[in-house]
Amino acid sequence: MELTTFKDRIQEVDSRIAAACERSGRSREDVNVIAVTKYVSLETAIEAHRLGLQHLGENRWQDAQQKWEAISGSGNDSEDAEGQAVWHFIGSLQTNKVKDVIGKFTYIHSLDRISLAQAIDKRASQLAIKVPCFIQVNISGEDSKHGMPPEAVTQFAEELRQYPNLLPIGLMTMAPYDSEPEAARPVFRALRELRDQLNLAKAFDPPLTELSMGMSGDFEVAIEEGATWVRLGTILVGKEG
Ligand SMILES: *Cc1c(COP(=O)(O)O)cnc(C)c1O
Repeated sequence: MELTTFKDRIQEVDSRIAAACERSGRSREDVNVIAVTKYVSLETAIEAHRLGLQHLGENRWQDAQQKWEAISGSGNDSEDAEGQAVWHFIGSLQTNKVKDVIGKFTYIHSLDRISLAQAIDKRASQLAIKVPCFIQVNISGEDSKHGMPPEAVTQFAEELRQYPNLLPIGLMTMAPYDSEPEAARPVFRALRELRDQLNLAKAFDPPLTELSMGMSGDFEVAIEEGATWVRLGTILVGKEG
């Protein structure tokens, strides 16, 4: 593994993404990569950002804090600031951590209950920002997975309308772990179909455009099924310790 440089690894992942886009007739620009740094050191995270990985993801504030302070992000005001990191919160978010996370992480991928929406909205309002969020859906029905059942999203959309500082932009899911990537396909397909149904029913205004799905073991299948954000840890930045 150490024989290939970090740069080679990034290029290798990029060409696999490009091939998956090609196979499914999608445009490469429609797929964004989040480098998930939760398994690596501060030094590796800094190197990842230096090598051009702009979008960085973490799933716990306690573990992310040091990295966030070293590679501070653009927050929610100047997302396109040249070279600035854009941080994504991808883990389940406790309401009492909202004050730490909102304003630092531009995107939240784990919105799964109304009490969390309320807390995010309140904090965003204090900071005078709007926070783009993905609604996390438990497609597979596995007990161990966070996220709301698919059939609850329409009602949730209705309730979210009272929180103007929270912008629902898409859906997020995690496929059950399986060594065979194809096993994840029905889960990813169901998430895309759910988004399309919600949009047909005009559940969200504006409609949901984004799908956050696909990790190291299944990102190519996720892209073939319509992912607009893939969250890559092990395969892209590695796993240390
Ligand atoms: C850790 C994590 C990832 C990345 O996992 P890999 O399999 O290492 O790519 C993606 N999404 C979430 C929500 C995670 O917690």
